[in-house]
Amino acid sequence: MRVPIIAGNWKMNTTVSEAIELVSEMRRKLDEIDDVEKVICPPFISLAVVKELIRGSSIRLGAQNLYFEEKGAYTGEISPLMLADLCEFVIIGHSERRQYFNETGEIVNKKLRAALKIGLKPILCIGEKLEENEAGRTEEVVTEQLESALAGIGSLGGLIIAYEPVWAIGTGKAATGRQVNETIGLIRHNVAQLYDKEVAQQMRILYGGSVTADNIAEFVQQSEIDGALVGGASLKASEFLSIVRQTSEIKGHLSG
Ligand code: PEP
Repeated sequence: MRVPIIAGNWKMNTTVSEAIELVSEMRRKLDEIDDVEKVICPPFISLAVVKELIRGSSIRLGAQNLYFEEKGAYTGEISPLMLADLCEFVIIGHSERRQYFNETGEIVNKKLRAALKIGLKPILCIGEKLEENEAGRTEEVVTEQLESALAGIGSLGGLIIAYEPVWAIGTGKAATGRQVNETIGLIRHNVAQLYDKEVAQQMRILYGGSVTADNIAEFVQQSEIDGALVGGASLKASEFLSIVRQTSEIKGHLSG
């Protein structure tokens, strides 16, 4: 049984005081929901304060990025060593980083290695662009991204994959549960080929792209989809809570 995960990617939103307000608003109710791993990923500058606010709860903390070197003259960057002290998860290879910060497959691979080496659990994002989807190239693109991200990595530690079609991120145009289930099935098949069946069966693979309280059920009802990486809707306490609650109910029902 794979424990479902709902991870909230706050992106470049919330000042420190807004982050405090948002966590305080959701902390108690989020903590009460069982059977789902609940991860929040605020901006770097709020990690320390949020860590204190969720201390003693079942809420987990993640960062949105990292640099692959441990320390040194890399002005403005945040290292795996710094994060390991603060949080458990780290998002790597988000399409916004690939698009706006020129992150290549090679950089994503270096970041993954650095995160795994220090014991952080990476949430690796992969997904095709609209034109690739329309050209019927989803399978090819997702396979290529997966292979380049994992190149030369022997042990996947606590790696989680998020399948995030770029055309569905922040657009309000989510994919369908069936489409996503099929693509995640393919990703799992690829993981089995690259590693083995057991690794693939245990790997948690999430969907991301305009997930809301209104459509989460469609995704988590699917057998291959182990939860979601949620952007915009994770910034509203009540909506995020509803997404987590529905996931707990639906996955609990399916497994029981
Ligand atoms: C994301 O940031 O990974 C994401 C899926 O964003 P949104 O839910 O806003 O589409």
